[in-house]
Amino acid sequence: MTDPADAQSRTRRSSLDMPAEEFRALGHALIDDIASFYESLPGRRLTDASTPEAIRALLGQRDLPDSGEQADALLQEVAPLLFDHSLHNGHPKFLGYITSSAAPLGALADLLAAAVNANVAIWDLSPVASEIEAQTVRWIAELIGYDPDCSGIMVSGGNMANFHAFVAARTAKAPWDIRKLGNGGGEQPLTVYVSTETHTWIEKAVDVCGLGSDAIRWIATDRNGHLRLDRLRLQLDEDRQSGCLPFLVVGTAGSVSTGAIDPLRDLASLCREEDIWFHVDGAYGAPAACLPEAPADLRCLSLADSIAVDPHKWLYCPIEAACVLTRHTSALRSAFSFHPDYYHFDESQLSATNYYELGMQNSRGFKALKVWLALRRAGRQGYCDSIRDDIRLARALFTGVDEHAELQAHSINLSIACFRYVPPDIAADDPGAAAYLNDLNKALLQELQSGGHVFLSNAVADDVYLLRACIVNFRTRDEDIEAIPDIIAALGRRLDRAMRPANLARDPSAS
Ligand SMILES: *Cc1c(COP(=O)(O)O)cnc(C)c1O
Repeated sequence: MTDPADAQSRTRRSSLDMPAEEFRALGHALIDDIASFYESLPGRRLTDASTPEAIRALLGQRDLPDSGEQADALLQEVAPLLFDHSLHNGHPKFLGYITSSAAPLGALADLLAAAVNANVAIWDLSPVASEIEAQTVRWIAELIGYDPDCSGIMVSGGNMANFHAFVAARTAKAPWDIRKLGNGGGEQPLTVYVSTETHTWIEKAVDVCGLGSDAIRWIATDRNGHLRLDRLRLQLDEDRQSGCLPFLVVGTAGSVSTGAIDPLRDLASLCREEDIWFHVDGAYGAPAACLPEAPADLRCLSLADSIAVDPHKWLYCPIEAACVLTRHTSALRSAFSFHPDYYHFDESQLSATNYYELGMQNSRGFKALKVWLALRRAGRQGYCDSIRDDIRLARALFTGVDEHAELQAHSINLSIACFRYVPPDIAADDPGAAAYLNDLNKALLQELQSGGHVFLSNAVADDVYLLRACIVNFRTRDEDIEAIPDIIAALGRRLDRAMRPANLARDPSAS
């Protein structure tokens, strides 16, 4: 007698499955399309600047499909949809935010990782993937000059990497059992010290972890955007006297606005004296620590208790890929590990890492693969060359801007150059001009972004609205950079003619 359920399973044919022959054909065709897309990038508009309504219209207003469609038709529809209506951060003149060109090898790695579908929560579910993740963490540490024997985990982005360090610091430094008793388990309120340039992750972290935004002490920066140590010392003294418990200082290695690097060495010694966890947000700048000529403060990342690094920024990996490292090898496990009954492990496998114990996620994708392959493909040398080139190009842009009569250079740090358009007949320091120059540069950026030829973003420093180019783009070349000052000046001139208010009327004697 055959079991009827058995007979059914022999004939089962789910629409989610795909015969190998079909996969091969669709895969080859898709890879061909992607290769042509990569080739076409330099000639494409950076963005088609569509409105949300227009993009929604492309998708059509339809309900969840009741019956399925053919996979080949779907891919033929969706590939051009994405190629033609995305913002192309892989374009050589995309210099906006801190979003890099993604290495094509990373796309193949993500495909491979998805095909094997390793669940890097538990070693038993992902033996090779877990070991590759461990090696990736080690190599990232080696690259940036951190202790290779540190503990670490791959996460989705810089925010998450910083969050993990925050939670590890809180668990390590609270003198009570914070995992059991919570933030209120002691008399003293936990306080954290960051510069005013710190990325918004810190606000989300204190919020989500229940400390509340009052736990943040915003420390002023100097004119160059560096955290002021004298102010930090004063604030620490004041807080200690009033019974607070300072547990965390954050230094930034490459601020998100101007790329400024905090005085990391001095911060590290102060934190050691004060018994405070010192975390470095290196989401953007940490990879540049691989350069022997990197700024001295960037070369002392090894002094940090923990570091956030973002391979989907300056290691050119496709989004998402980030990493948190800490030289306190049990800190992540102490902060995140639970041992539920349904995870029963062979006690002989003590050397195996079950990554669910080191972070917030349970089921986890294999993000390490794209980073591991990129590190092997480029090697330390390849990364140093590419990062150095990005920095060189940012400096070239800064010089080009500085030499241009209509542009005013502001700052250059790592690969971030900030500047603005200033009509030559307006004195930039004339207080009457300040608001107009901000409006003019805002409008200029808007036009530039929707124009689709060059993509920059902005920074605001001391109430001055700046155009900001961040080069984390291995496709950017000298000729791309050389073209930018004139493109911006021409646009600025046109907007200035249309926007100039009467009180700043052109001086007819000026040309
Ligand atoms: C980008 C960035 C972040 C946030 O990283 P995501 O990957 O966007 O989550 C945090 N800090 C700094 C300094 C950054 O540059």
